[in-house]
Amino acid sequence: MAARRRPEVSRPSRPHLPMRPLWRCRGCGAEWPCQPARLSLLVEYRDDRTALLVYLGTLMAEAGAQLSQLNGHAAPANLTERFLSWARAR
Ligand SMILES: [Zn+2]
Repeated sequence: MAARRRPEVSRPSRPHLPMRPLWRCRGCGAEWPCQPARLSLLVEYRDDRTALLVYLGTLMAEAGAQLSQLNGHAAPANLTERFLSWARAR
């Protein structure tokens, strides 16, 4: 336990973070949140699922606005699935 006080030191050099405004993963290029990003979010927010959903909702709104500007039309229809459905408590 004590050895893992600073997990950021051992993180890979290409973390799974969103690349705006495309909302692709900087680490693996998949649509963000990619699987590794989802897993680390679930770990990070394991004690507060509500906070995770609020956070993801904020990101989804931002992504929707940026992606719809890029596309020149409405935001992709699957954003709720992509950002929120997997994070809901079951
Ligand atoms: Zn990734």
